[in-house]
Amino acid sequence: MGAAMSLSYVSASQATFLPRMTQKKKKKALVVFDFDNTIIDEDGDDWILKLAPGREAPDWLRQTYREGFLTEYMERIFQYLHDNGTTPDEILDSLKKILYTYKRQDVLKFIASNSNKFDCIVISDSNTVFIEAVLKGGGVKHAVNNVFTNPAHFDESNCLHIEPFHNHACKSCPVNMCKKTILIEYIGTQAQDGVVYDKVVYVGDGVNDLCPCKGLSGSDIAMPRRGFRLIEKLAKMSLRAKLIPWESGSEVLAVLAKRLYLDILLFG
Ligand SMILES: [Mg+2]
Ligand SMILES: [Zn+2]
Repeated sequence: MGAAMSLSYVSASQATFLPRMTQKKKKKALVVFDFDNTIIDEDGDDWILKLAPGREAPDWLRQTYREGFLTEYMERIFQYLHDNGTTPDEILDSLKKILYTYKRQDVLKFIASNSNKFDCIVISDSNTVFIEAVLKGGGVKHAVNNVFTNPAHFDESNCLHIEPFHNHACKSCPVNMCKKTILIEYIGTQAQDGVVYDKVVYVGDGVNDLCPCKGLSGSDIAMPRRGFRLIEKLAKMSLRAKLIPWESGSEVLAVLAKRLYLDILLFG
């Protein structure tokens, strides 16, 4: 089991030439989190509308939403909030009040305190302003190696703007983001820097988490949240990765703790 675990993402021919100690030293698991309804127990895009008049988007604005074009829609939402006098401080303060999915930030704190064994990235269709505010507010920004999300900023008139993250060739994903493409690129870049992951743990809830889950290998773990749409989609297909549903986050912590225990037991 140990040998099989350490050889994923490294071809057999490469592995023979690697000294055994090097393989041991580089072995890490990569934990990938979605953000909305995964790290936080809300959808940040809905949450922020509490600041709008009537605490929701008006019908005329909601009707402008097109499936797969969330970024453009959120740009209009931010403009609407700005037109109605919402300030950057109100937005940032509101984001800091969002609860994390599990006992505040325990899963991310566990990862941070075992950063020699785990790397952690967030891949989300939210935006940089929201995620930064939440991670900083929760005191866990240091737990996350990289955040891949749509860039956002406040302009000189204090209106928030959001731009698409990237262009991609995937037909299944929203126009601005294919999480599988991002994950594959990240694993490739890390490998060039000598960091090889023998296991990916992917934690998510939404339909845009389906594409990266389908790309996981047999040594990886897909963790869809119970009661959300990803788990329904995954139930209808066979996945190479092991499937472990979660609800509160204690299940995510249990998976990571087991991995840490086995890793220490097998490799020290
Ligand atoms: Mg989500
Ligand atoms: Zn995709």
